[in-house]
Amino acid sequence: MSKPQHPTQTASGTVTRFAPSPTGFLHLGHAYAAWVAFEFATDNHARFLLRIEDTDQTRCQPEFERAILEDLRWLGLTWQEPVRRQSEHLPLYAEYIQKLSGRGLTYPCFCSRKEILETSHQQNLPIGPDGPLYPGTCRMLSEKDTARRLASGDAHVLRLDLEKALQEVSSDLCFDEQGSDNDLPKGSTLVDPTNAGDIVLARKGSTTSYHASVVIDDHLQGITDVVRGRDLYSATHIHRVLQELWGFAAPRYHHHAVLVDENGRKFSKRDRDHSLQAMKKAGKTPADLKEMIEENLAAQGQ
Ligand code: GLU
Repeated sequence: MSKPQHPTQTASGTVTRFAPSPTGFLHLGHAYAAWVAFEFATDNHARFLLRIEDTDQTRCQPEFERAILEDLRWLGLTWQEPVRRQSEHLPLYAEYIQKLSGRGLTYPCFCSRKEILETSHQQNLPIGPDGPLYPGTCRMLSEKDTARRLASGDAHVLRLDLEKALQEVSSDLCFDEQGSDNDLPKGSTLVDPTNAGDIVLARKGSTTSYHASVVIDDHLQGITDVVRGRDLYSATHIHRVLQELWGFAAPRYHHHAVLVDENGRKFSKRDRDHSLQAMKKAGKTPADLKEMIEENLAAQGQ
């Protein structure tokens, strides 16, 4: 299995993590991601942490978290306790986001998903890490209209005002890419700030979002090396911007290839047949899974 490596890495002080979201059962793609991160930790004598990213309380379920822990043990992973559960730190994320709001870098957005999709379709907007880039509709609202809608309790998310945020970060912001995905350039990589647009920092009815809590936790847990799939590569660009805004040190990034199904698409948590639970029930062993992973990567030329 191809492994991320950092040639100049010293053994001590290296910390990495695996950070699944309990919104469904883990599948073969997760098994690969978990093994790559774990092997990186083993090879580099790093601390290996497990973080449960369960801030989306409408989609996360305790049943999925139980299955994740069981599956990871079955794969042979061990991690340092305690496991961090993001749902136990919601007020903390709100404090960090409030710091950005206090600097005028956020705004409430009342658009529905449908409205965003329609506008971005009409304007033919590019795709960012969370789908079509937000067209900025609510950024243009007058202060009076925003205040009126907030006062009437209209549901809203909190977005980063990227244009304003970029005035506070250096234009040659980079991240260090050390991944094993053959298609990605290695080494110092210039951040493309336009890639993500005005991302959501706090979802409707929540104090946070994936982007905010992952960046805050990587910092608080002292993660030196983020090992994750290249499906999150475009998110890394905006994560670097958030790290700069909050004054956090940047970890190294190791983006690995992402396994695909027979239609060339990323495995989905909805596809129960490829879940680790289903494969275990069908009598497959972790060694069988490793073989399937090797074949999957070889078919992609990885
Ligand atoms: N929780 C994210 C996921 O399940 C991964 C976060 C990360 O590795 O940065 O896709």
